Amino acid sequence: MILVSACLLGEKCKYSGGDNFSPAVVDYLQDKAYIACCPEELGGLPTPRPPAEIQAPEKEGSTEAPKVLNKEGQDVSAAFHRGAEAALELCLKNGVDLAILKEGSPSCGVKRIYDGSFSGKKISGSGLTAALLRQHGIRLCSEEEL
Ligand code: SF4
Repeated sequence: MILVSACLLGEKCKYSGGDNFSPAVVDYLQDKAYIACCPEELGGLPTPRPPAEIQAPEKEGSTEAPKVLNKEGQDVSAAFHRGAEAALELCLKNGVDLAILKEGSPSCGVKRIYDGSFSGKKISGSGLTAALLRQHGIRLCSEEEL
């Protein structure tokens, strides 16, 4: 069973109200069992919503919960963590062993995220949902790696 970022399938759940439709992901999933989810919506955030970035990128082995602020300076960490937990629960309930996630997102990013300065600069790191799924042994792959 595969979990996939809903925006990659064309669902308009991106912060801007748009999507990140990926024909390659849709093609890949054609004959496979999958579940789509948007962790940020699962965490209770509305769409559209202000963009958000992780302020203290997760470090391997760190016990500190990363903080997420939106561009208006509001702390949206709780919603991001709730969304990550909800996505993990979906995975555990459905026997998900692979997640195809949108690169660069503060929730779904697999290898890269924005640096927290809202300047468009990307750094190595993972979104909160991606990091949590990885901690639970779920293989991750971004749409770029597919
Ligand atoms: S949280 Fe993930 S699924 Fe939702 S819009 Fe962002 S990248 Fe897409």
